[in-house]
Amino acid sequence: MGLFGKKKEQTEERVYEKSEELVLKEALETEVEKLQKEFRIKQEEIESITKKLQSVKEEYDVATSNLMSVKKESNQKKMELDTIYLEYKDIKSKITNADQIFNKNKKSIEERLWEKVKKQDGCWLWTGSTNEDGYGKIYASGGNGQKEKKVSVHRVAWESINGKITDGMSVLHQCDNPPCCNPNHLFLGTQADNIHDMYAKGRNRNIGPLGEAAPSAKLTADQVREIRSRKSSLALAKEFGISYRHLRQLFTGVRWKHIL
Ligand SMILES: [Zn+2]
Repeated sequence: MGLFGKKKEQTEERVYEKSEELVLKEALETEVEKLQKEFRIKQEEIESITKKLQSVKEEYDVATSNLMSVKKESNQKKMELDTIYLEYKDIKSKITNADQIFNKNKKSIEERLWEKVKKQDGCWLWTGSTNEDGYGKIYASGGNGQKEKKVSVHRVAWESINGKITDGMSVLHQCDNPPCCNPNHLFLGTQADNIHDMYAKGRNRNIGPLGEAAPSAKLTADQVREIRSRKSSLALAKEFGISYRHLRQLFTGVRWKHIL
């Protein structure tokens, strides 16, 4: 190989070296580009994650702030409730005290009854309010929070001596004096006894005076008894100068009911 050849060889070598260098450079550049691209992608991902984090943090802050305000409100409500509870306890104790004072001052129905009854020989007269039939009336507690109701004073008087009246029984006056509260003048009877008693004493205000006492009476009690002992007939009505209708009413008890 001559000088030229050697030179050429060197040049070729250089070219070869150069191209090798170039290839390496290009490879590196490609690698760098690739890495840069990856880096950008990663950076974008990081940015997006950061954004998400920021938004989550904001949501968290809002939630925390809401929670704080709810907690604050709840505390306030609790304080209000405590105040109301204290007020309630205070009022309740006042009511209890008032009840105790009231019960201490409250008179029993019997105490209130005897305060208004004149105890004397004979009938003990009630001096308080009466109903239209003359029976004394007094307020009694209805119990179970019910409104107070009025009861007859002679019943209270009887109960004060004898205890509770049996259900359905009436307290009647032997003395026929409605306002009388003398326990010795009172006796227990059925409602039927009461009605009989009332007719016997001519005290049914709906029918006025009974029997012979009635201004229009055509018969005496003895005549009524005689008629009833006989057989009903038109002749019997004529005999006593009354209509047949009147006669039938004697037998059915529409008239002269109090004569048994
Ligand atoms: Zn009496």
